[in-house]
Amino acid sequence: MNSIAAPLISWYLKNKRDLPWRHTTNPYHIWVSEVILQQTRVDQGLPYYFRFLEEFPSVFELAAAPEDHVLKVWQGLGYYSRARNMQTAAKTIVAQFQGEFPSSFVPLKQLKGIGPYTAAAVASFAFHEDVAVVDGNVMRVISRLNGIEEDITKPKTRKLIEAVAQNYLPEGQSYLFNQAIMELGALVCLPQKPKCDQCPLQLNCTAFKRGIQSQLPIKSKLKKRKERFFAYFLLEDDCKFFLTKRPEGDIWQGLYEPFSIELESMPEPDLALSHLQTCLKLYSSDFEVLAQTRIEKHILSHQELYASLFHLKLKSLDSISHLDWFDSEEVDKLPKPVLILKLLKQL
Ligand code: SF4
Repeated sequence: MNSIAAPLISWYLKNKRDLPWRHTTNPYHIWVSEVILQQTRVDQGLPYYFRFLEEFPSVFELAAAPEDHVLKVWQGLGYYSRARNMQTAAKTIVAQFQGEFPSSFVPLKQLKGIGPYTAAAVASFAFHEDVAVVDGNVMRVISRLNGIEEDITKPKTRKLIEAVAQNYLPEGQSYLFNQAIMELGALVCLPQKPKCDQCPLQLNCTAFKRGIQSQLPIKSKLKKRKERFFAYFLLEDDCKFFLTKRPEGDIWQGLYEPFSIELESMPEPDLALSHLQTCLKLYSSDFEVLAQTRIEKHILSHQELYASLFHLKLKSLDSISHLDWFDSEEVDKLPKPVLILKLLKQL
């Protein structure tokens, strides 16, 4: 074993966290854990992992479930396209592979929504293929170990780091190495203030020797998030509420929300209500405002959302009786974005 893998694996075996997906080689369980962990911390992801496997114990149940149900179980995790892609991939695995996961990196990567990272993780942890698993933690550890002063957001640097990681893999034990280097990034080689005094790789670390740990990895600045402004209207009539499904090609595809109008800026309440009247051809005497609330900033990966919500009791349904109405029990069951859940809770 090489001078990086040996101390790293020995450290890992003594210090690793006891996590449920580390007790299995079931590719479906590993896949679910990896997708969940791409968008949340381990402690927040654990309940989602258990719930997801309880609702969909195998690719067969996931493939057969209604999309609304999959999104409801995913509710709160964000990146809903990942849940939809998982279901598409599950359908392919059922239809083309009789429910058996492809057992190596290349065919795994051809499944919908499975990128190089997830394909490598499933191939390595479930099938022990000698392939490097490179996530953000691994990028950080390797760029510090080797003093790589290139921007890690560039594909060229990513390729370089993947090649270095692949070179470190000890044949036959690469699944342990991959777990170990990710765990080192999560527990010791932290983004801020790495705990170099506890690191098994200190002697081999260029950044440590040169005292430049805090400057690495180099990452170009993220683009400014786009600001969007929404006025939502929870329309109620006779204890029924109007909710609508979000369309394709925008955030939250397939999730439900109250009637909404997107505006150029955060509107004053009167202006928001007059937009609603124009859109739905309502007179001010057609409704009564029961309550209102707003959220100043809800951050998504590339967008910053500002939203207000008005709860309106309708007196006349003539112009909107064709819309979809749900009772409160049905509303609870519909998958909704976190922003909507927060607004409803505030209301
Ligand atoms: Fe990271 Fe410090 Fe270890 Fe280098 S010595 S790999 S900077 S924790």
